[in-house]
Amino acid sequence: RAKAQGKNRYVVYSEEFSDQAFHSFSLEQDLRVALDERQLVLHYQPQFDLETMSLVGTEALVRWNHPTRGLLAPGHFIEMAEETQLIIPLGWQVIELVCDQMKLWEQRGITPPQVAINISPQQLLQIDFVEKLNKLVDGRGVARTSIELEITELMIMQDPDLAMMQLHRLRESGYRIALDDFGTGYSSLDRLKYLPLDRLKIDQAFTRDIGKNPKDEAVILTIIALGRSLGIEVLAEGVETESQLRFLSDHACNSVQGYLLGRPIPAEELCIGV
Ligand code: C2E
Ligand code: MG
Ligand code: MG
Ligand code: MG
Repeated sequence: RAKAQGKNRYVVYSEEFSDQAFHSFSLEQDLRVALDERQLVLHYQPQFDLETMSLVGTEALVRWNHPTRGLLAPGHFIEMAEETQLIIPLGWQVIELVCDQMKLWEQRGITPPQVAINISPQQLLQIDFVEKLNKLVDGRGVARTSIELEITELMIMQDPDLAMMQLHRLRESGYRIALDDFGTGYSSLDRLKYLPLDRLKIDQAFTRDIGKNPKDEAVILTIIALGRSLGIEVLAEGVETESQLRFLSDHACNSVQGYLLGRPIPAEELCIGV
């Protein structure tokens, strides 16, 4: 009986496994097609200065317009793209889409706001990344200074020396650099002072608990103070309520991003300078 059960379990397990393997395999194949057929689209989420409440930039967030599954959020495919190296061509397509959009805004007489682009660790750690990026951005006639590259602490931990070198080269090339999801990683504060950063993005996990958890509030205040003393701007992510906004404003956080002020939306729906 025990044996039969064990056997059963094995069968069930192996079916589930092959199901899952098949699922991710087909998604991987689909992503290859998606890259060829340009099924990726970008949504842009506005970022506001807390003092003036004016729009100071946007963050480009990738979505996959899948032919049968509908519009997929990055949570469905970024990890798989990282595992299969598809994140590299995906990352370049995202940068191309941003540049094209910025030119479009410019042609319509709209000063393109600064656009933030999420960069995967693998992409940043490609030895020719900076060279290729400069070529692409310059080739499309976009100002390097209006592009902010979002990196994470994870990337710095993977290869601290190479990451540091790449970040300095990017900064010297004229790009802005933001440290995304700050506070959730394990980067040492000692290393932080050597990083060429323009902005720290407080992770939404901390913002979410404003008014609920004094410890999270303490972390936020510490990040704001740290940013101020290092001369780095601080942006809070995931602002969903008026009271979160008030707390951040009262404590002189520089800028905010979140559903309260604007969800990520297609570029055409974003009202910039109008
Ligand atoms: P992230 O860079 O930290 O982006 C912020 C995420 O929080 C976005 O999710 C955004 O839609 C969501 N968000 C914004 N405001 C709020 C809010 O008020 N409340 C809540 N609950 N969420 C909010 P999204 O678009 O699903 O992206 C998830 C992650 O996928 C991003 O996190 C980023 O790490 C990654 N990602 C997105 N686009 C790209 C890309 O083009 N390349 C790479 N490598 N990664 C990307
Ligand atoms: Mg980001
Ligand atoms: Mg983030
Ligand atoms: Mg994140």
